[in-house]
Amino acid sequence: MLASLPEAIDAKSLNAWVEFVLKLQTTGEDARLILNFTEALMAQDVGDTVADAIAVEGNLYHSQWQDLRTRFEALSLNQSDQQWQLLLSDPRLEGIGFYLNELRKVARSKMPVELESLALELSVNGYHAWDQLYNKMAGELRADFEQDGKVSSLSMGQLATKMASPDRSIRQQAFEKMTQAWRTREDLAAMMLNSLGGFRLSLYGRRNWDSVIREPLVMCRMEEKTLDTMWKVVALETKRFQPYIDAKKKLLGIDKFRWYDEFAPCGSADRLYNFDEAGQFIIDNARTFSSDMADFFKMALEKRWVEAEDRPGKRAGAFCTRMGAFRETRVFMTYAGSYENLLTLAHELGHAYHGWVLKDKPHFAGIYPMNLAETASIFIETLVNDAALERTSDPQEKLMLLDQKLQRAYGMFTNLHCRYIFDRAFYDERANGAVSKDRLNELMVKAQKQAFGSLLDESGYHPLFWCSKLHFFISEIPLYNFPYTFGFLFAGGVYDRARKEGAEFADRYTALLAEAGSMTTEELAHKYLDVDLTQEDFWADAVNRALADVDEFVKMVNPSS
Ligand SMILES: [Zn+2]
Repeated sequence: MLASLPEAIDAKSLNAWVEFVLKLQTTGEDARLILNFTEALMAQDVGDTVADAIAVEGNLYHSQWQDLRTRFEALSLNQSDQQWQLLLSDPRLEGIGFYLNELRKVARSKMPVELESLALELSVNGYHAWDQLYNKMAGELRADFEQDGKVSSLSMGQLATKMASPDRSIRQQAFEKMTQAWRTREDLAAMMLNSLGGFRLSLYGRRNWDSVIREPLVMCRMEEKTLDTMWKVVALETKRFQPYIDAKKKLLGIDKFRWYDEFAPCGSADRLYNFDEAGQFIIDNARTFSSDMADFFKMALEKRWVEAEDRPGKRAGAFCTRMGAFRETRVFMTYAGSYENLLTLAHELGHAYHGWVLKDKPHFAGIYPMNLAETASIFIETLVNDAALERTSDPQEKLMLLDQKLQRAYGMFTNLHCRYIFDRAFYDERANGAVSKDRLNELMVKAQKQAFGSLLDESGYHPLFWCSKLHFFISEIPLYNFPYTFGFLFAGGVYDRARKEGAEFADRYTALLAEAGSMTTEELAHKYLDVDLTQEDFWADAVNRALADVDEFVKMVNPSS
């Protein structure tokens, strides 16, 4: 398909170039569709070997497509700005100029095409293989856990759920068993992390990329100054969680707040919601802001785009996926009736709405970066949660709802920040050679001291967090931590605007979502929120909003004071 493309763009070859770009777009969307569709099939039946086999084929198509894109990038560099402009001015490519310009700009900072193509091919069995190996190792790791006089062998995922137990001895045991299990794999994990990091740094070195932060920033379409400003404000204000942590300590009857106390539940909600009730609650509350969003939720539920049945053989977790040229979305989850499930349903429907808003856009204009990917989901989740807060008269339920909000914010400010600090420190040292497991533990504790400050007790650190958190081993996305905190604070800013301006903001909100794949993050924020993300004001507001419930939570725990 590339061989027949004339080398230079001119009036005569323009049509062939436009057609090539359009074909690149449709084949890219189709390759994605195969992967998304097979993933959905495997999620709803983990034993679906046919889908598994098709996914392998799909992966092959996708890597062939990536190679084609790389070769197209090289061709784009051979064109003068004028020739390139001629291509972009063709009306058939309307809406995807940003994507094409970005592709050409990034290509300029890469190695020559043959080397990039080689690196891409070698990364399948090198780079990404470390990621897969880690996942296999983590998935097979087990620990004996004792509860009610019975010993059972639990996976790391099962131990993690025990860490949300109201009983501290269970949380503590889960944490200790998890740590013991990871101690037996510490050497291997250190080797994997060093190899993965080493591969990354070699590649960046060959491309003359000076910092490990460059690639994730390109992926997020954002400036370093935005990131630095965000962390600066977060670091400064994290200590304001202290009254919340103190109140939580009082409520839990503990004097030292440790790593395994973070997810200890406060308050309670006995109430269960059946699926139809939950859907209706989400629709009704969405309607207070946007009838377009509410109508979409109604349609998605009526058309059964949500696979939520509680039955064996399904994968854990929840996700929303887009169905390529069909321009529909599908949500996967397991709905068992808890309030948490209701929020998950709202969250995933939010993603689905974002996909819906993009349905008339060309595929290349609909690819939004990961730091904006949670905007629509967190938006509706927050809206629904606030509605539930307003409605409840049960103090225990109210306490639980407030704690859920604060717990999430606390994690974004501390847990995610410590991952970022650790990653930066690790890559600084990795540049000079392999980093020993003991040093990795040291770096992790140092990062936790810095990120948590006095919120976490000296006896409560988690030195092996770098082993147990899979995000450190994701090869596709380096430094996959700051996009969470960014997304959380950004979505909060959007939500705040909606609270202030009400339904009048609904059209702008939809337009913001629709253009999330067509400009940089800073441009999007400027255009639709009229804010400058490189300045502290936006982040200071966002942080205040995230901390807004601390007072009320503290008051509920200490009613007399
Ligand atoms: Zn999400």
